[in-house]
Amino acid sequence: MTQKYVIGIDLGGTFIKGGVVSKRGDIIFRAKKESAAKEGHFQPVANMFDVIEDLSQKMGKDPEAIGFGIPGAIFSEKGIVTKSPHFPHWIDFDLQASLKEKTNIPFVIDNDANAAALGEGWVGAGKGYKHFCCMTLGTGIGGGILLNGLVWRGMTGMAGEVGHIIVEPEGLPCPCGGRGCMERYSSATGIVDMARKKFNDGNDSKQLRELADDNPDKITSELLCDLAKKGDHLSKTIFKEMGKYLGIGFADLINILNLEMIIIGGGVLPAWEFFIEEAVSQMKLRTYKIPGESVQIVKARCGNDAGLLGAAYMGWQSR
Ligand SMILES: [Zn+2]
Repeated sequence: MTQKYVIGIDLGGTFIKGGVVSKRGDIIFRAKKESAAKEGHFQPVANMFDVIEDLSQKMGKDPEAIGFGIPGAIFSEKGIVTKSPHFPHWIDFDLQASLKEKTNIPFVIDNDANAAALGEGWVGAGKGYKHFCCMTLGTGIGGGILLNGLVWRGMTGMAGEVGHIIVEPEGLPCPCGGRGCMERYSSATGIVDMARKKFNDGNDSKQLRELADDNPDKITSELLCDLAKKGDHLSKTIFKEMGKYLGIGFADLINILNLEMIIIGGGVLPAWEFFIEEAVSQMKLRTYKIPGESVQIVKARCGNDAGLLGAAYMGWQSR
């Protein structure tokens, strides 16, 4: 095959997902391997290169470039992973140097949330837009901000941490060291914590208690979403509460950045109908009229491929 291509790598806590991606953003081949997140500094790197090797063999030649979307705090300019929750060995880890030892192919490293934003901007919901934020509501809340079509990285590469917008000044403590961060209320973890609290307070629903086998540890955001779809009042109340905090976060972003669009993705997306109305109305209460009414709040379109596509996009851009 003579086609030029790049490889996008989306490193997750459990799996490495790789893809051969065309200049138009088509994923031609895919490959996957365990991340080996806890097996030292270099095993995850070796496994990423197994994925790259696999994909290169399928194409019969080397890629033009490789893009890496890496979870955690990344100083992308220098390729240093300051800290990555799933990769305990990666503290101030010079990922760039260890990748350079493995390959002569040009590569780019960025945070996975920035990669997801670039993926959505390239072929997803943000296509054609220049000023937007892409938020991934999952275990935590990831965020990537594009201004004038470029990722806003800030001084040390850590801009766009929208999950840590403070939505409740004296609120729940957060692993970032702060309190009342949006992530503690509007992520899957936040929703489940709210439900467990209601459960433990005896303020739960019969349906929830039955489905969770009387065990709050069995409550998941998926279970709450299913219950809300069946009309369960408590689950709906939890999503409305989650939407309130999300809307406060939206308002801060809009007031500061006057964005065209906020794109929402991640595992909480199936519950969209139960939180979005409250989020938009809370946002509008807290923004100036024109920016609040002009911003579009939309669902992500690339699903689980956003990070891989964005990593590939960085690869194409680097050439
Ligand atoms: Zn925080």
